[in-house]
Amino acid sequence: MQPVIKRILKQTALPLYLQFRGLYHKGNKVTCPCCKRSFSRFLPLGVDRRPGQCPRCRSNERDRALWLYMEKYPDFINAGKKLLHIGPESIFYRYFKKMKGLHYTPADKFALTFESTYPSETIYLDIVHMPEIPDNMYDVILCSHVLEYIKEDDKAISELFRVLRPGGIALLQVPIKPGLEITYEDDSITSPEQRALIFGDPGHIRFYGEDYADKLTAQGFETDFIPFISLFTQEEIEKYGLVATDDFQLAKKSSWANEIIQQVLSFQLLLLPVLL
Ligand SMILES: [Zn+2]
Repeated sequence: MQPVIKRILKQTALPLYLQFRGLYHKGNKVTCPCCKRSFSRFLPLGVDRRPGQCPRCRSNERDRALWLYMEKYPDFINAGKKLLHIGPESIFYRYFKKMKGLHYTPADKFALTFESTYPSETIYLDIVHMPEIPDNMYDVILCSHVLEYIKEDDKAISELFRVLRPGGIALLQVPIKPGLEITYEDDSITSPEQRALIFGDPGHIRFYGEDYADKLTAQGFETDFIPFISLFTQEEIEKYGLVATDDFQLAKKSSWANEIIQQVLSFQLLLLPVLL
C-alpha cells in the first residue's frame, strides 16, 4: 500500500474504527487508564491471543502499567526533561506532546516500516550505533520491549548508557522467562514461525533470563527492578489488565559514572607510553 494512502487511513479511518470498537465493547468490567474508558473486556492480543488490548486506544498490558507508573510518580517524566522514546507508542506520543517544556524525541530504526503506527515525527535511529546523538544527551529513555529484537543487544545497551546523562534513568523493559538463569538465544532459529513458537513472537531472537540485570551492569548501568504491579490488588490487576509478574526494569546512570570512565580512560592513556 502506498505510504500516502496508509497515512490517510491512519488519520481518518482508523480513529473512526477505534471509536466504534470502543463503543461496541463499552461496559464496566475492565478500565483502561490510558484512555480513561471502561469496557466489557480487553481484546485478544499477541500470538497467544490473550485478552490484553484496549478496544479504544489499543494499549497493551505494559502500556497501561507505564501509564499508571507515570501517574503515581509524575517526576519520572516531566517538563524540562529530555526524553528519548524508542519504538514510540502512539498513545504516549499524544500524552508527551501535550506536556509543555518536555523535549521529546520519538525514534526507531523501523520508523518507515511502521510509518502507519508511529507518530509522524519519529526519526530514524539505530540504537546499536548512534553517532548522531552526543554523549549524556537525555534525562530519560523509554525503550520497552525492543532489545529482544536486536542481535547486538550489548552494543545497544552500551549506546543507551552513553547517551543517557549522569543521574538519568532508562526504562529498558524486556521479557524475562521465569526460572531461566542464563539468557537463551540460538542463531539457528531464524524463521518467524520458529521464533514465534520458541520465543513467543515472530521477531524475538532470545529469551532473557535472570542474568538480564548483569547485562545492564556490564555496560555501566545500575539496575533497579521494581515490582510495581505488586502495589495493586488482584482486583485492580484484573480491572486494568496488567501482568502480575511484570517488574519495572529501570536502569540508572549514576552521576559519578562518567567521572570514573574518564578517570579509567586517562589512566590508560598515562600507562600507554609505559606499555609501548
Ligand atoms: Zn484505552
